[in-house]
Amino acid sequence: MRAALAFFSFVVLSGLSVYKPAFAITGDAAEFVRLADDVYAYVGKKNDANAMVIVTSQGVVLVDTGNNQPDARDIAARIKSVTDQPVRWVVITQYHGDHFGGSPLFTPPATLIVHDRVARDIGAMKPHQIKSWRKRFPERTAALQGLSPKDMMMSFPDRMTLNLGGKRIELIYVDDQYNIGDVAVWLPESGVLHGSFAAYKDRHPDIRPDYSHGTTITMLKQLEALLALKPRMVVPSHGPLSNVGDLQAMVDYVLLARQKVRVMMDKGLALPDIIKQFHMNEFKDWDRASHFDWMAETIWRELSGLGPIVVKITEREVKGKLTKVVEAGRNLTIEADGKEIRLRVSSDTNIEGVPDRTHLKPGMKIEAIYQEPQDFNAALGFDLIELDVTP
Ligand SMILES: [Zn+2]
Repeated sequence: MRAALAFFSFVVLSGLSVYKPAFAITGDAAEFVRLADDVYAYVGKKNDANAMVIVTSQGVVLVDTGNNQPDARDIAARIKSVTDQPVRWVVITQYHGDHFGGSPLFTPPATLIVHDRVARDIGAMKPHQIKSWRKRFPERTAALQGLSPKDMMMSFPDRMTLNLGGKRIELIYVDDQYNIGDVAVWLPESGVLHGSFAAYKDRHPDIRPDYSHGTTITMLKQLEALLALKPRMVVPSHGPLSNVGDLQAMVDYVLLARQKVRVMMDKGLALPDIIKQFHMNEFKDWDRASHFDWMAETIWRELSGLGPIVVKITEREVKGKLTKVVEAGRNLTIEADGKEIRLRVSSDTNIEGVPDRTHLKPGMKIEAIYQEPQDFNAALGFDLIELDVTP
């Protein structure tokens, strides 16, 4: 790793002056793009999650499952428009709702393929999460009765190759303490790569102090492995299709970000000042400058030799009345014992009493279980686990 970083440092010095940023965000409608024979990218709208489709004579391999239910159904329809083959395998590149959430539309009969770490997390899913996973697509209620995603799942420790109908599909996990199970998918014959989280194009990466999206060192290790493949075309987790030059730009970015924090630490600056002064304005036209604060704190933790921030979470039960419903039921305000509490509905929230969050209305009586993290700004809203509604 030390030799590789020295190489990267050289690239930073020599590469930045010629690097030209370009604002990169996908269009208002999703696109289904043919990348090679039998290989397609589903490019999500407005940087929503992407997916990749590989058609073989033995069935379709789907890589990630769409940002939300409409996208997952759209992916299924696009697949049908190019082949009669059924989806038989679903590879998850990142264990987050926007990549994994559409899986109940395909499994079963499809089989999930994930990294061992993700398999452990799926195995530990709580009852409310399994219930909400089963309910995500009403048309799948009968097919998913009594099932959990772990009932049709394969996992692997570092590498796995699928040989299907004459095609070779390589799944690559880069071993790192903080790689939480991100998997790249490599098609050596066509030179197409799904680069998972590390392969963002022109976007400030979503690196967080709880290491829930990995760390900058994890990203550098993954990018080093992906660059070595010399892909012809790259499908990132989110955003426009990219290429080997974008992978290199991300390496330059991460190294510069780390260098900036290191310089401030060497000057003796405290973390609040580092967060205040940190910016990546050299990459001004990149998307999501809102990620700077978390990135500065994460790099500070990494360079200080600290592990992820661990936040203690307490589960609380509450009875009350809905007083405010915004964003189609995503954000709720309730009144309980004369107090106002703000709550957030996630893809893991199990809702009983109404079909889904879009049916929530002010005035409804509710019973809820939510998570209260220690030292958390309550104004942002707590994550709901269960919501029982009396309409
Ligand atoms: Zn994502």
